[in-house]
Amino acid sequence: MSFASDTKTELCKVTDRFCCRKAECYGMLLFGRSFSPAGISLTTESQGAARRAAELSAEATGAIMDVASVQLRRRGGIFSYTVSSVGSGQAEKVVHALGHTGKEISLHINLANLENECCHAAFLRGAFLTCGTVTAPESGYRLEFTVPYMNLANDLSSLIRDILVLDLEPHVSRRKGAFVVYLKGSEHVSDFLTYIGAPEAAMALMQVRMLKNLRNEVNRKTNFEAANIEKTASAAAQESIAIKKIRRCGKLSAMPKDLKPLAALRLRYPEMSLRDLGQHLSPPLSRSGVHHRLQRILEYAEKLKVEK
Ligand SMILES: [Zn+2]
Repeated sequence: MSFASDTKTELCKVTDRFCCRKAECYGMLLFGRSFSPAGISLTTESQGAARRAAELSAEATGAIMDVASVQLRRRGGIFSYTVSSVGSGQAEKVVHALGHTGKEISLHINLANLENECCHAAFLRGAFLTCGTVTAPESGYRLEFTVPYMNLANDLSSLIRDILVLDLEPHVSRRKGAFVVYLKGSEHVSDFLTYIGAPEAAMALMQVRMLKNLRNEVNRKTNFEAANIEKTASAAAQESIAIKKIRRCGKLSAMPKDLKPLAALRLRYPEMSLRDLGQHLSPPLSRSGVHHRLQRILEYAEKLKVEK
C-alpha cells in the first residue's frame, strides 16, 4: 500500500454531520471525470473512496450510483474503480440537488453546498479522495489535485488559500491537458492532511521529516546518541501536532501560564532538543523540567475534543 492510499483509507473513516457529508459528496463528484446531466462519473484506485462516493451520493442526493472495477495489468494488477450514475435522470437529479443547472459554460464551485465552516474541510476531503494524491514522505513533501478544468482548479486553489487557520499558498500548473493544484513542504502538507481528517498520515510525515533532519544532525555531531533519534523524532512530531491542535481550537491563550512560552517555542523550533528548549526559556528550565511540561501540553491537547 502506498502512502497516498493509506491516507485515503484513513480519510474514509471520518464520520461527519449531515451538512459535511453533503459537502464531501459534492467535492467527490465535482472533481470526478464528468459532472453534468449527461452523466456523473469518477475513477479512483481506492475501493474505500469508491464505496464512500456511492453511499454519500445516495444519502445527499438520493441518486443511485454504480461501482465497477477493472484490474489494470499494465500497472502491476492494481484495481481501478469507477463510480457512475445509472439510468436516465439520475445524473440530472445529482446536478440539480447540488445546485447546478447543468447548463453552465464552465464549472465553478457552488459555495452554497458548503453550508457551514465545518463543511470546507469535508469538501476538500472529498476532492482529495477523488483527484488528489500525496507523495510518500521518504520521497518528498507534495500534495496535489489533478483537475480537468481551469476554473475549477482556480476555485479550489482560492478555497485552500482562504482557510485562515492553515495559511497555505497553493500553486496551479498545467500537466498533460489537466490543471494541477499543489502544496509543497512538510509543514503545509501535514497541516492540510490534519485539516481534512488524516492526522495519522500527517504525523507519519512529520516523523519522517524530523528523522531526516536529526540524521543530518547526527552526521555533524558524532557524539549524538544515534539510537535515540527515532524516539526523539516521534516525540517532537507529536508535540508539534498537539500544539497545532490547541491553536486550531483557539485554546493557546487559555493554556496554563507556565506552558504557554514552551508551546510557542516548540511551534517555532519543531526540532530543537529539550536541553536547548530549556535554555531558551526565561528563567531557563532543566531538560527534565521541559520534558515534564511537554507531557502536560500533550495531555492538555488530548482533552480538547474538536478535531479540526
Ligand atoms: Zn458541515
